[in-house]
Amino acid sequence: MLILLTNDDGIFAPGLAAMERALRGLGEVFVAAPSTEQSGVGHAITFLTPLTAKEVFEGDRRRGWAVDGSPADAVKLGISEFCPRRPDLVVSGINAGLNAGINVLYSGTVAAAVEGAFFGITSVAVSLEWDDHPDYARAAAIGLDVIRGLLARRPAPGSLFNVNIPTSALVGRPELRVVPMSVARYGEAFERRVDPRGRAYYWATNEPPPPPSPLESDVTALAAGAVTLTPLDYDLTHRGGLDDLAAGTWAIG
Ligand code: MN
Repeated sequence: MLILLTNDDGIFAPGLAAMERALRGLGEVFVAAPSTEQSGVGHAITFLTPLTAKEVFEGDRRRGWAVDGSPADAVKLGISEFCPRRPDLVVSGINAGLNAGINVLYSGTVAAAVEGAFFGITSVAVSLEWDDHPDYARAAAIGLDVIRGLLARRPAPGSLFNVNIPTSALVGRPELRVVPMSVARYGEAFERRVDPRGRAYYWATNEPPPPPSPLESDVTALAAGAVTLTPLDYDLTHRGGLDDLAAGTWAIG
């Protein structure tokens, strides 16, 4: 099995290294990841400027390619140009920080997995709650268990999954919950500061946190300390709206 591994924290991120070591137990791992951190760039791609890439080695071992672009660029280029053959699986992570709730739509980590799914390849994003010195090895072992479980269920080609691991799940026996993505709005506040020249600048604070909800979602399950697994789909069509809009006649032009 050939696994394309990517992330949005950059090819030298410790989370990617830990996932790489763990995934070697599953198959051949090929890395194509951004050369610098690209967190929060979503599904951006490079098309107005040329895209460059450098082959990266660890000692004598060829590790993969550092792409001077976005996570989606790295996956597109990795599959189209660099992989020795079509990958059987795309894994994105381990991201430094959860990608749950509406952050899924800002996430470069998830976008890289979506890109893999565009190619019809089963793709999994893996994220770990942010911590100064996280146990990435333990998180990678948990991520690998989830990926093995997913593959054992023989998902349709192009299936897309989002896995989040809270730090509290790194000790003891973690619980896995299959949950939908929360769509609650949060993290809309900015801190206004003044620079040395008297000009205002703004810094996103991630406040306020998601509102408490009785409905189980990735956000509530993570708050309860569970590892979350969410099947995703990138089809943004609101199916329920199709019939409403198609009813009656339209006068245009
Ligand atoms: Mn990131």
